[in-house]
Amino acid sequence: MRGTEISLTADLADLEARQLYRSRRVVSRREPGARVEVEGKTLLNFCSNDYLGLAGDRRIGVAMKEGVDRWGSGATAAHLVTGHTAAHHALEEDLARITGRDRALTFSTGYMANLGVFAALAGRRDLIVEDRLNHASLIDAARLSGAQVRRFRHGDPAAAEARLSTGTHGRSFVVTDGIFSMDGDMAPLGGLSAVSSRHGAWLVVDDAHGFGVTGNDGAGSLSLAGLGQSDVPVLIGTLGKAIGTFGAFVAGSEELIETLIQRSRTYLYTTAPPPAVAAATRQALAIAFAETWRRDKLSELIRRFRVGVEHLGLQTTDSDSPIQPILLGEPGRALQASESLFEKGFWVTAIRPPTVPEGSARLRITVSAAHAEDDVDNLLDALADLDLGGARPDG
Ligand SMILES: *Cc1c(COP(=O)(O)O)cnc(C)c1O
Repeated sequence: MRGTEISLTADLADLEARQLYRSRRVVSRREPGARVEVEGKTLLNFCSNDYLGLAGDRRIGVAMKEGVDRWGSGATAAHLVTGHTAAHHALEEDLARITGRDRALTFSTGYMANLGVFAALAGRRDLIVEDRLNHASLIDAARLSGAQVRRFRHGDPAAAEARLSTGTHGRSFVVTDGIFSMDGDMAPLGGLSAVSSRHGAWLVVDDAHGFGVTGNDGAGSLSLAGLGQSDVPVLIGTLGKAIGTFGAFVAGSEELIETLIQRSRTYLYTTAPPPAVAAATRQALAIAFAETWRRDKLSELIRRFRVGVEHLGLQTTDSDSPIQPILLGEPGRALQASESLFEKGFWVTAIRPPTVPEGSARLRITVSAAHAEDDVDNLLDALADLDLGGARPDG
């Protein structure tokens, strides 16, 4: 036992020395308008995934309370045992309609949805070709499936095609985030779709950050790219980001959903989420898709932020999404910037390796419809005061 402790101590010390040690901050209160109380200080939150400002919406909270009145606190078992309620079922029907797919299946989390999809669909004879910057859960899902995995250069359909050309005996998959979680840029979905169809590969898109935010009435990145079920047979989305509650889903054909029900280990062997959460999510979806002003306001705030950041000469990515990173390079630099912003009343987490590649530590700023124009302007002023001008990731 002692030896184990010593090796953990050394490992933790090593993380600390490399400025990669992570710690949590405790939120003691949530206030309206993306404000939170942390360590006795009120902060403006510029790093949540609550892009539409729905996580604190009273109407969704009421739906959750009514769900508890009707269903109690827990689902009592997995979906295939006794846990699949009318609330879960109705949510799946809503999601199928919104995404324009035959059917949808809800999972407890996006991480589990991704693991479940590849556990069900891919094995040793199959090939998974994926973008280098895909979310950690997609990387893990591919690895765990036992399939051959090849990664391609970020956002490059030709590179994906080269990886596919090496051939396989079984199924092949092209896998990408819709909007990349740490860079905020959109995948070249049209190009990836063309490559996939040329090679008979299944295109799998994880639209965790696009669903609710972009496309027709917020239906997501595939709606924006004009791609349907035959182009993208597997669509994954999460409900804990723009939709403001918790959970995830996979949408696609009847056969896909039935296959997942039979074979997704992360669906079969876990308790269904509380029915009240499903009821709340239905209310959240109705609000998210009807209240188009949220997306309009968000776009306007994103535009305002980008103009300001460009004026400051800071290095960003090619992102029109709510995810607006400022690239700073070394972890220490990102930490210092995050700390200074904290002192000024802004909560922006420093994102460091291994979440992002070495040398690309950053502030991952996210904009929300819950922000006001003044909030964005004040953040820009605070960034100007940090004296990060001319920052270069390799500088
Ligand atoms: C957040 C995220 C997930 C995980 O979703 P959870 O519901 O939080 O587990 C999966 N994929 C991407 C691209 C994400 O950004």
